Amino acid sequence: MATIVLKRLSKFFNRDALQQDAVNHLVMQPHEHSLNPKVLCNRALEVVRVLQDNHFEAYLVGGCIRDLLLGLNPKDFDVATNAEPHEVKHLFRRSRIVGRRFQIVHVQFGRTLIEVTTFRSNSTKINNLSKNKNRRLQQSASGLLTRDNVFGSIKDDASRRDLTINALYYDPVKNTIHDFSQGLKDLDDRTIRIIGDPATRYREDPVRLLRVARFAAKLGFNVDSKTLNPMAKMAENLSHVSTPRMFDETLKLFMSGQGLASFRLLAEYGLFAQIMPQASRLIEQGDHFASRIVEQALTNTDLRIRSKKKVTPAFIYAALLWPSVQKIALDYENQGHSPSLALNKAASEVIGNQIPITAIPRRFTVAMREIWSLQLMLPKRGGNKAKRLSEHPRFRAAYDFTLLREQAGESLNGLGDWWTTYQEAGEDKQQEMVEMLPSDRPRKRRSRRRKHQKTDA
Ligand code: ATP
Ligand code: MG
Repeated sequence: MATIVLKRLSKFFNRDALQQDAVNHLVMQPHEHSLNPKVLCNRALEVVRVLQDNHFEAYLVGGCIRDLLLGLNPKDFDVATNAEPHEVKHLFRRSRIVGRRFQIVHVQFGRTLIEVTTFRSNSTKINNLSKNKNRRLQQSASGLLTRDNVFGSIKDDASRRDLTINALYYDPVKNTIHDFSQGLKDLDDRTIRIIGDPATRYREDPVRLLRVARFAAKLGFNVDSKTLNPMAKMAENLSHVSTPRMFDETLKLFMSGQGLASFRLLAEYGLFAQIMPQASRLIEQGDHFASRIVEQALTNTDLRIRSKKKVTPAFIYAALLWPSVQKIALDYENQGHSPSLALNKAASEVIGNQIPITAIPRRFTVAMREIWSLQLMLPKRGGNKAKRLSEHPRFRAAYDFTLLREQAGESLNGLGDWWTTYQEAGEDKQQEMVEMLPSDRPRKRRSRRRKHQKTDA
């Protein structure tokens, strides 16, 4: 697809100079590409123009250029400039500086938000920095960048971006594309390649490991071998990433329409075990249901996203963690707890194990618990229970969850089909369906035992 937009690309990469110097600056002139400034977001163009009119350098950069060159719809538009955050803020009325680790400016136009980033310097120069710059750039013992606010040139900025295909700069006024790391070539070759030394770059920010998997899944690109080789070994570094950021990244992985492909690559690269150790352990132990429910949940999520239906992190997390919950709940039942208490205790335990990795917000853990506990209630449909259950605010999610369990191979005596028919039926038919059910009441055997115990006493 990239070849449609990049005219005569091979001509550029046969240039001797470019092959000699990996950080050569390649500029594509307007007649050499067909990126049309008219298809770009007007607000992003306005931000670039205002900055350039004030004698700053400004470009559109990152995912928006990558996606446009591939003929995809960009998710958002990012601007890179040599103006410092306070200078950007000064130029735009509705703007604010956000972030501490990595300061950027959010420029707001109604509902559209444009992120403006000041060119960063290459962090590998950390040892040569002045005292003032040292305050702006901090690195932990593991190599993690805890603050990254040293500003530099466009070339510096290009070398500290994550992937070559994400480091393309577009000047919409001059209509030129700037490439410092052979990103255009990688786009054309459908290759994911990290910029710089992969191990160092993963250590600085382990989220880059997840980004490699995410973009490989999203674009269907191959991962370059040097980029791929250290990934499994460095996966443990993900534990240095803040838990809210990890949660956000899992949503991007599983809820952007390529959840299944992302999961498969995460598993292949040894990253899934870091994100969801409980699910990963069961899958590794050969629990077929555990892998089938993950694959099915993500397949369904991808389909829903494609048909523009709502998806919620609560449902996905509930599905991915369900086999773990079931397993622990069974242990508690075997210890003599009632099914609902056993499920409750298991839910707390499983959520409690996941939160220190991905900080699932409370509103989602509450929903997960409801989806799980409704699984015990959906089989009990006698009297007017079915009617009441169908009016429960979480019924729809719980019903979808039952269908998912069956799709993934759990045998629930046709429960999903029963509820499907019930919801489509009129009141008389619903009544009839309920009357034909076997009783929900507990069997007599229990009361006999109680009587027996009494006599004993
Ligand atoms: P999309 O928005 O479609 O998910 P994107 O590439 O635009 O993809 P963003 O998270 O919006 O991703 O980031 C914008 C740009 O910032 C990236 O294209 C990349 O150049 C840079 N970037 C983002 N995260 C990192 C990171 N962890 N390390 C280095 N550079 C990064
Ligand atoms: Mg983006």
